[in-house]
Amino acid sequence: AKEAGRNTLRFFDTEMQLRLQNRARLEADLRKALPNNELVLYYQAQVNAAGIPTGYEALLRWIHPVRGMVSPGEFIPLAEENRLIIEIGAWVLETACHQLVVWADNPATAKLTVAVNISPVQFHEPDFVERVMQILERTGASPQRLKLELTEGLLVEAQQQAREKMLRLKQTGLSFSLDDFGTGYSSLAYLTQLPLDQLKIDQYFVRHLLDDLANAVIVESTIGLAHSLGLEVIAEGVETEAQRVWLTEHHCHVFQGYLFARPLPVEAL
Ligand code: C2E
Ligand code: CA
Ligand code: CA
Ligand code: CA
Repeated sequence: AKEAGRNTLRFFDTEMQLRLQNRARLEADLRKALPNNELVLYYQAQVNAAGIPTGYEALLRWIHPVRGMVSPGEFIPLAEENRLIIEIGAWVLETACHQLVVWADNPATAKLTVAVNISPVQFHEPDFVERVMQILERTGASPQRLKLELTEGLLVEAQQQAREKMLRLKQTGLSFSLDDFGTGYSSLAYLTQLPLDQLKIDQYFVRHLLDDLANAVIVESTIGLAHSLGLEVIAEGVETEAQRVWLTEHHCHVFQGYLFARPLPVEAL
């Protein structure tokens, strides 16, 4: 038993060491990702009741020279810890704004919006508002076409500060969407305090819409709540026709999900 115990410990040590090495390597590589042009934006359609795209959510992809595509779920938390997300996030915004300018040139795409995910680390930087404004100016993108996706956690801490930043940004004409709604905090007071435009029902609730009654009740209430507050409501992670029908019957008319389109590189849209 003593032998086994020692072996387990040794195994554990090696595994832990490997994981740390792996992480350190990923972090070193991530520092080079931006200068080496390894980051790209994919775009996932957001569609109206007729199934027509009215805009796209920009989703970051890292094409690692050896590992291939690394998912944002893997590298964004790392980029937040080492604060690389500030530069990466600025690049995402600038690239998305460039895309808006390209679309603005063609009458068929001129009305499309782009939604950009904002990390709390990025949002809490003292010069976040100025940086967004500079990017809008530099690129010439129309703020009316830009939507910033924030998460609940970000809005609950330092709410007064968040509110002020949002109000300043709203003056440019851009809009705000509250991402992953319902997954974070229980207090809903901030919903009435903040200048939000859209509420995004998290894909977890959508996934279990038809097999879990409690979930359906939550989604139904969320849609009602959004409308009462004058917010648009969008459902994400819509994968089946049955989900789309249910949502439509319950007054949610904007969708995003594999049923309509996967995230795609811009050339493939
Ligand atoms: P999110 O903002 O909640 O984005 C939605 C995620 O769901 C995306 O994963 C998307 O590809 C995926 N998805 C869309 N439709 C469906 C569907 O029908 N079924 C399923 N199962 N999944 C669907 P992705 O692209 O891997 O991004 C993961 C997360 O990484 C995002 O979650 C967001 O939090 C973060 N992220 C992505 N790009 C950026 C970025 O530029 N900046 C920041 N700060 N975070 C980002
Ligand atoms: Ca999002
Ligand atoms: Ca989301
Ligand atoms: Ca999410």
